[in-house]
Amino acid sequence: MEIGFIGLGNMGGPMAANLVKAGHDVSGFDLSAPAMAALAKAGGKPAADIARTVAAADMVITMLPAGPQVRGIHGGDAGVLKAAKRGALLVDCSTIDVETARTLIKEAAARGFDMLDAPVSGGVAGATAGTLTFMVGGSAAGFARALPVLEAMGKTIVHAGPAGNGQAAKICNNMMLAISMIGVSEGFALADRLGLDRQKLFDISSKSSGQCWAMTSYCPVPGPVPASPANRDYQAGFTADMMLKDLKLAQQAAQAASATTPLGAAAGALYQMLSNSGLGAKDFSAIFRLIAKGDLHQQ
Ligand code: NAD
Repeated sequence: MEIGFIGLGNMGGPMAANLVKAGHDVSGFDLSAPAMAALAKAGGKPAADIARTVAAADMVITMLPAGPQVRGIHGGDAGVLKAAKRGALLVDCSTIDVETARTLIKEAAARGFDMLDAPVSGGVAGATAGTLTFMVGGSAAGFARALPVLEAMGKTIVHAGPAGNGQAAKICNNMMLAISMIGVSEGFALADRLGLDRQKLFDISSKSSGQCWAMTSYCPVPGPVPASPANRDYQAGFTADMMLKDLKLAQQAAQAASATTPLGAAAGALYQMLSNSGLGAKDFSAIFRLIAKGDLHQQ
C-alpha cells in the first residue's frame, strides 16, 4: 500500500520503518532533518512537503506531538485535507485531546475522508519491536481498512467505538496508571518510615489486594522488579512529562464532560511538581522520589 507518514520522531520513526519492513511504500515528512535521514536509511522516501507526502497515499498516518500540530498539518491550502488523494484513509496516532480529535474527524468527513483516531501505548520499545497497542476510534469500515496496516506496527489493536473513543481510552488508562503509581509510591514511602523492608512489602502486597501493574511490572523502588526504571536511576521508558501531558488531557476532558476525577486532578498536580523540580525527563515512576521526600524544599 502507498502510505504517507507525517511525524517521524521517537515513535513515528520506528513505526514508519516497520511499515517499510512489511512491504509498504512509505513516503514521509518531518521538520527534523535527522528524522528524514533515518526514514531514507530505513528504506522510506523523504518527501519535500506535506502535499507531496500524501498526494499518492492510500493511507495517511500522523504521529505528532499534540493537538495543535495535528490540526496544523491537516488544515490550510497545502494541508492533508486539501492534498490527500480522494478516498484516502486518515489515521492519527498522536495522543491529542478528545475534542480536537472529534472535530477534526468531522471536518475530514465533510471533505469526504474517513478518519480514525488511533493513539498507542507501548512506548519507543513497542514502536521499535512492532508490538504497540492501538486504541482506535472511528467507523467500523475505516477500522477494517486500517487493521492490516496497524498490524505491521502493533500487537493489540482494539476498536474502542466512534470518533474520539481511541483518545478517550488512552487518557482513561493513563489517568488510572498515574493514580496507581502514586498509590504504590505512597505505600513504599510509608513502609520506609515504619521500618518495613521494601522487599517484604512487595512479597506481601504483590500477592494481596494492593497488587497492581505499577507494583508488579514497574515497581517505583529499586530491587523488587529488576527490569523497572527505578533500578536505572529512573531512566525513562515513559517520561514524567509525557504522563503530565496525558493527565492534563484527562482533566480537560473531565471538565468538559463534568466527570468527577479528584484523584486524576491530584495526580496532575503531583506530576506538575515533579516536572517543575527538574525531573520531567525521568521515568514517570520517579514520582516515588517526590513522595518519599514529602517536601520539595528538602531536595
Ligand atoms: P517526538 O517529539 O519524538 O516526535 C514528534 C515529531 O513530530 C518530531 O520529529 C517533530 O519534528 C515532528 N513534527 C512536529 N511538528 C511537525 C510538523 N508540523 N510537520 C512535520 N513534523 C512535525 O514525539 P514522540 O515521542 O514520537 O510522540 C509522538 C506522539 O506519540 C505524541 O502525541 C505522544 O504523546 C505519543 N506517544 C508517545 C509515547 C512515547 O513513549 N514517546 C508513547 C505513547 C504515545
